Amino acid sequence: MTNESAHETGYSGADERGYFGPYGGAFVPETVVPALEELSRAFSEAMADPLFVEAYSTLLRDYVGRPSALYRADRLAAAVGLGAVYLKREDLNHTGAHKINNTLGQCLLAKRMGKQRVIAETGAGQHGVATATAAALLDLECVVFMGTEDIRRQSLNVYKMGLLGAEVVPVDDGTGTLADAVTAAMRHWVERVEDTFYVLGSALGPHPYPTIVREFQKMIGSESIAQLAERGVARPDAVVACVGGGSNAIGTFYPFLMHYGRDELPLLVGAEAAGKGIDSPLTGASIALGDPGVMHGFFSYLLQDERGNPLEAYSISAGLDYPGIGPEHAYLHDEGLVRYVPVTDSEAVAAFSQLCTLEGIIPAIESSHALALLPALAAELGPAAIVLLTVSGRGDKDIDIVKEAGL
Ligand SMILES: *Cc1c(COP(=O)(O)O)cnc(C)c1O
Repeated sequence: MTNESAHETGYSGADERGYFGPYGGAFVPETVVPALEELSRAFSEAMADPLFVEAYSTLLRDYVGRPSALYRADRLAAAVGLGAVYLKREDLNHTGAHKINNTLGQCLLAKRMGKQRVIAETGAGQHGVATATAAALLDLECVVFMGTEDIRRQSLNVYKMGLLGAEVVPVDDGTGTLADAVTAAMRHWVERVEDTFYVLGSALGPHPYPTIVREFQKMIGSESIAQLAERGVARPDAVVACVGGGSNAIGTFYPFLMHYGRDELPLLVGAEAAGKGIDSPLTGASIALGDPGVMHGFFSYLLQDERGNPLEAYSISAGLDYPGIGPEHAYLHDEGLVRYVPVTDSEAVAAFSQLCTLEGIIPAIESSHALALLPALAAELGPAAIVLLTVSGRGDKDIDIVKEAGL
């Protein structure tokens, strides 16, 4: 399943060494190489095993609530000047976002590999909670690495992880935020690879993680294609998702890249976090402002200083403030198959407010970055255009943040 055959777009995913063009790979200490190879093998075998696929699909249906709804948001479409806007409602999943799709898949894989212990990194705590949830369900010991600054800012999620039976390990290095937590989790994994499975939270990290995470998120796009067809939409004009590390976006885009030829491919658009603006140091726009480099075990666009040290990313949204982007997105950008557009904090907050008042849906501030692109898409594609947009999560966690931003 990892070696998809090339389609008419000419797109075929990673090669055997985990490269998407020049991006990706596995830049890891020697001691981790066998663990990554074991993981690749176990993943391929699992995806080819009907019992594993059945166990995963059953949990997605009965525990997560899939397929998630596809909702035609007519008041929103009228307000932004589009023919139709279809919202793919990942916010309705158990735990309120797309992350559970991936953590359930990886925790099932951990069990199959005979590991009794999972570790994860988390920034805002969303991936930590999703991992702790899957670990509780599947009776796995769970340890989550989290920066001390993030622990302070995200006390509710820290408390939730405790309720779910996970241990949160504070990481005091660097700025005490996500990038430091990833480094600490990887360092720990090197020491405990025998009995420990690393549940990675986005479509990045060393090969095979970017491909594994995509495969555990690609139901977002494939369900959408089927649900659109049921409504008589053979092809939307554009497909939009927000991009942090890139998991909900690649899960949305990948089935479109496989399903349509290059000539009919909808305009695929990823919204990345511009923070206070791409001319400001307070930004998270890795594609717009980054340069290729290595961080956390993979080669991709990164925000870095002149000496190649990663810069701290900033965004109003904790889920988008990572200084890099998954390698598959870097490749899709270079190939011109996906367009990446920076969206500022204030544009995202305005779009957040608009969805609340027009549709009665409180979206995650991450997802609001995607929503903010709709008016420009209407101007470009015209008033009859049909747009699919992934609402990656619900906004309950962001109420204090938008309140502070003046809503
Ligand atoms: C974590 C998160 C994101 C960003 O992660 P991706 O891997 O880029 O999808 C986006 N939206 C929500 C709601 C999140 O929790």
